[in-house]
Amino acid sequence: MPACIRSVLACVIALGFVAGAAPAADKIRVVATLSDLKALTEAVGADLVEVDALARGNQNPHDLEVRPSLMVKVRRADVLVVNGLDLDNWVDLVVRGANNARVIPGAPGYVDASRGIPVLEVPTTRVDRSMGDVHPHGNPHYVVDPGMAPIVTGNILEGLARAAPKHRAAFEKNRQDFLGRLEPAMARWAKTLEPFRGAKVVSYHADWIYFLTRFGLVQVGYVENRPGIPPSPAHLTQLIRRMKDDQVKAVIVDPWNDLKLAARIAEEGGARSLVMAPGVGSVTGADTYLDTVAYNVNTLAQGLR
Ligand SMILES: [Zn+2]
Repeated sequence: MPACIRSVLACVIALGFVAGAAPAADKIRVVATLSDLKALTEAVGADLVEVDALARGNQNPHDLEVRPSLMVKVRRADVLVVNGLDLDNWVDLVVRGANNARVIPGAPGYVDASRGIPVLEVPTTRVDRSMGDVHPHGNPHYVVDPGMAPIVTGNILEGLARAAPKHRAAFEKNRQDFLGRLEPAMARWAKTLEPFRGAKVVSYHADWIYFLTRFGLVQVGYVENRPGIPPSPAHLTQLIRRMKDDQVKAVIVDPWNDLKLAARIAEEGGARSLVMAPGVGSVTGADTYLDTVAYNVNTLAQGLR
C-alpha cells in the first residue's frame, strides 16, 4: 500500500483504526475450533480479542478436514479454545502442524472448554472408536446447552487472563455482563418450553441431550445406530415403532444430516422433523450465541405444539 510508505496517518486511516479501539496488532489472537466457542470467547474478550474459528457453523464439527490454512491460523494464535471430549480432536493434528508452543496441550494458551462440565452419556463399557462411535468419552455436545455457558465462559476467562493478566478485570466484567444477559433469557426460554416438559423426542445424532435435559424434555431414541454410525433398516423399524408407542412429536435434525431420511422417519412415526441449529451460524437467524439458543427453543416449541 503506497499510502503507508508516504504517510503513517494515511495508513492508519486506510486500515480503518478508530480512536478508542485497540489496534489489531495489540489484540489477543484467539483461535476457537467451533463457532459457538468463538462467540463465547468474543463475549468474554470483547474488543481486546480477535477471534477466528476453524470450523464454520454449517460444518459438522465431527468431520472437519484438516487443511494447511487451519495450521496457519493456529500458528499465529496466542490462545486456542477447544471443545474437547473428542468432538474436535482433529485439532491435535492442526496444532502439531502449526508448530506454536503457546497453544499446545498443557501450555498457558491452551483452553479446554469442557473442563468442569458434568459429562452425560459416558459409556459404561469401553467404546472402540474403530467401530465408528464418535463419542467414546461421553457426549461432547454441551455448548448448545445455555446452562453450560457459565462454565465454558469461566474456562475461557482463565485462558485469556493467562495470556493477558493485565486485562483480567475487563474479562471478568465482560463475562458478568454476558451472564447478566443470559439469565433473563434463560427464564424466557424455560417459560417457552414449560408446556412441553416431559415431551418425548428423537434426535438424528446424539447432540441434543444437554439441551433437552436442561429444559425437561425426554429423548427416547436416535436415528443413528450409535453416534456417527448410519442407521440400519432394522434399527429404523424399531425406532419408528418406539416413536408411535411413545407418541413422539419431534425428530431433531442437524442441517448436515440426511434431511430426506429424517422427514420420512418423522412421517412414518407420526412426528415432525425439525432442523435445529447445533452451532452459531448453522442456520439463518442463528448469528449470535443467544440468538442460536432462542432459535432452537422457538423451533422446538413450535414443532411440539
Ligand atoms: Zn456427536
